[in-house]
Amino acid sequence: MKRIYLDHAATTPIHQEVIDEMVDCMQNVYGNPSSTHGFGREAKAKMELARKKIAEILHVLPSEIIFTSCGTEANNLVLRSAVDYLGVTRIITSDLEHKCVKETSREMSEHRNVDLVIVKTKKFGTVDYDDLEEKLKASDKKTLVTLMHANNEIGNLLDIGRVQKLCEENNALFHTDTVQTLGHYPIDFSQLKVDFASCSAHKFHGPKGIGFAFIRKGSGLHAQITGGGQERGLRSGTENVYGVVGLAKSFEIAIRDLEKHQKHIEELKEYTIEQLRIHIPGVEFNGHSADMEKSLYTVLNVRLPFKDALIGFELELKGIAVSQGSACSSGASKVSDVIQSLMTLEEIEHTTPLRVSFSCYNTKEEIDVLVGVLKKISEKHFVAHE
Ligand code: PLP
Repeated sequence: MKRIYLDHAATTPIHQEVIDEMVDCMQNVYGNPSSTHGFGREAKAKMELARKKIAEILHVLPSEIIFTSCGTEANNLVLRSAVDYLGVTRIITSDLEHKCVKETSREMSEHRNVDLVIVKTKKFGTVDYDDLEEKLKASDKKTLVTLMHANNEIGNLLDIGRVQKLCEENNALFHTDTVQTLGHYPIDFSQLKVDFASCSAHKFHGPKGIGFAFIRKGSGLHAQITGGGQERGLRSGTENVYGVVGLAKSFEIAIRDLEKHQKHIEELKEYTIEQLRIHIPGVEFNGHSADMEKSLYTVLNVRLPFKDALIGFELELKGIAVSQGSACSSGASKVSDVIQSLMTLEEIEHTTPLRVSFSCYNTKEEIDVLVGVLKKISEKHFVAHE
């Protein structure tokens, strides 16, 4: 049975060119970048070249890229350090954030005396920008706004420029979780003046366990992981040189092939929507995920018009991998918090959410198999109700 992978928002397979570059580095470069001898200098040079390439793509300074072990760590670094070192006493965020932002913000409010303010979201999960403005104006406390650029479950895109302006006008810091968008959109931080952002290589065909925080120069942040003072004092620990090399290579390739891949994936997404509408009467889509303008082109969150807690398992038996929530909570049959917040109790009881997330490697034939299997499952449910 040929397996079909449609869970690319959870993680992606590594690009062959990235593997080649990493293997070459593993075989030939093993010095510690902090060592002053030739071996160390070689490793350091690899890392600094990688940093420079990433900085060029984002139109930032190399020193504004701080390598971390993942997107989660990058987000933690910014949020925790903003509270510890920048005097932030109020965090404005939303209910739809990734757990690494939600949980960290909650912890800051419980243990560091930070006011946690949740911005309203509208019916389909978009941030209520008027409410954000009101909340920004409601207090003089030093505020950090943290809102994700694109939601990993429903794909909704934030009007990031609008939020940045609101933050600037109201003297608030702005952190955006760009884990699902870097490598998928051409982002230029010389134009888009966010203060902080985050990245994770495994979301764009790079290795797992490596990411970075974008920290604008002069921000005043300090490390959360202290020790040898690596990463300009912002993140101690011997650097993951192979990971960094793989991250830069995968980022370069993602940007190089962006237009071609975006076009292919958008066509696939549109095809999936069309086929599901034809074959599954009553199908709907969560959030704005079926609106090509308002959502991440890699994510489609399907709302099947029947309840089937075992659907992930049934698809798995047919060799199809999709997700019912985010990867951290998959395995659980409980509907995720994000999806729940968009539905009435009635909808939760009578529908099944399914996240299908695409990459350049997927094909229409794979979508046909998925839709065929879902059609059979849905017919079984309709017969059972007749
Ligand atoms: N933020 C978002 C929006 C994500 O989708 C993820 C991963 O699913 C993360 C943060 C965490 O990234 P990492 O897996 O690198 O810790």
